Amino acid sequence: MSLKSINPYNGKTIKTYKEHSLKEISDKIKETHEAWLSWRKTDFKERALLMQNLSAALKNSKESLAKMMTEEMGKPYKAGIAEVEKCAGVCDYYATHSKDFLKDQLVDTDATKSFISFQPLGVVLAIMPWNFPLWQVFRFLAPSLMAGNCGILKHASNVSGCALAIENLVIAAGFPAHVFQSILVSSKKVNPIIENPLIKAVTLTGSTFAGKMVAQKAASLIKKSVLELGGSDPYLILEDADLDLAAEICVNSRLINSGQSCISAKRFIVIKTIEKEFIRLFKLKMSKKIMGNPLNDKTDIGPQAREDLREELHQQVKKSIKKGAKCVLGGVIPKGKGAFYPATILINVKKGMPAYDEELFGPVAAIISAKNEEEAIKIANDTSFGLGSAVFTKDLIKGERIAKEELQAGSAFVNELVKSDARLPFGGINQSGYGRELSAFGIHEFVNIKTVYVK
Ligand code: NAP
Repeated sequence: MSLKSINPYNGKTIKTYKEHSLKEISDKIKETHEAWLSWRKTDFKERALLMQNLSAALKNSKESLAKMMTEEMGKPYKAGIAEVEKCAGVCDYYATHSKDFLKDQLVDTDATKSFISFQPLGVVLAIMPWNFPLWQVFRFLAPSLMAGNCGILKHASNVSGCALAIENLVIAAGFPAHVFQSILVSSKKVNPIIENPLIKAVTLTGSTFAGKMVAQKAASLIKKSVLELGGSDPYLILEDADLDLAAEICVNSRLINSGQSCISAKRFIVIKTIEKEFIRLFKLKMSKKIMGNPLNDKTDIGPQAREDLREELHQQVKKSIKKGAKCVLGGVIPKGKGAFYPATILINVKKGMPAYDEELFGPVAAIISAKNEEEAIKIANDTSFGLGSAVFTKDLIKGERIAKEELQAGSAFVNELVKSDARLPFGGINQSGYGRELSAFGIHEFVNIKTVYVK
């Protein structure tokens, strides 16, 4: 069996990769476990130095890495450059802070000395998606290696070039052999990998379906898992919002990564009295975005990552229209080569339509009307997901209250688009998953929080 990287801009096969056999994978896991036996004993100074090297290696190769992402999954090149820089940033962040995050915590008890110590677990399996082929991996890799764990990466089947490039960067940065390895394998063969006793925990970023499969398997073996899954982030536009600014931010969020981001704004819940004006501004700004060759610097929307994903999205749009939504922009697959899908706006979106109930993983905005603030909050929370959320209002006290107390999600932003930041925890609730990445919370997910008691 083989894995193919296909350029979604022109449909050409970039490269075919031979899948690793289960025996080869098991050997690699063994090598990584053996590397861990020494790696776990390294000190933070040594790890931090290597992590800084990794940051430098990323910066030195940012053009070639961005180009590889563009070719394998269609990301606009300029966004790829920003992604590589963000990866370098997360390496620097954990190089600087891990020692502090993981230092022993003394606790007064009846012991002579008692404290909490954070010990590495061993080899962690990371199953990652194609949409941010580098960022999703680095936000796991940096804290995990700094905590003294080792990693096995099973990347999405369409970005094997990126998977191998990451492994090579780790080697080039000077990390000991096998501390971090990529395995080339399709999702169909993941279960025996999770079963390997040397795999101590699993993290998956991807769809809710994949999350359920992996979590079930991990739970049956009592292995810890972290799940970063899909989302249908609601953005509330209240009556007193700065509509021009809100429309600008909402468009930018919806179009992150050509619409293929878990934390893109997906449902725009607008108070009835301002809906007409918001739609006018939103449409104006959406229609100005340029779709085209992702290597071109002017391009805002590249092709979708795969033809089948574009088709799935189009079906969701068509079904929503059939159920009464109105398409006021886009909604038609353009003629010609490439897996392109245009910036699309659906209005009159209601419960029971895919655009309301499901995640739309592409440049399609669903506008939902609400009578008032109370109803807007109710609609925002009327979802199986719970990743990000945002509210737009000039009343910052009200915005903060809604963000903190009302929106049922892993993050809630006021007058800003949802974005990840190494300093802040990232993750979801409900069907968006569990566990957190980034910040001090992220590095504590894969450690043994150990009590040490000295009489
Ligand atoms: P996906 O199909 O779930 O794939 C993600 C990863 O999981 C890939 O490596 C895939 O491998 C693997 N996988 C799929 N089914 C599996 C199974 N049954 N058992 C084990 N592994 C399995 O998702 P995607 O289409 O690549 O990514 C889009 C989804 O990811 C969206 O729902 C998006 O919202 C979500 N996402 C979430 C976050 C977050 O931080 N919360 C970030 C980015 C994306 P193969 O490629 O070999 O199938």
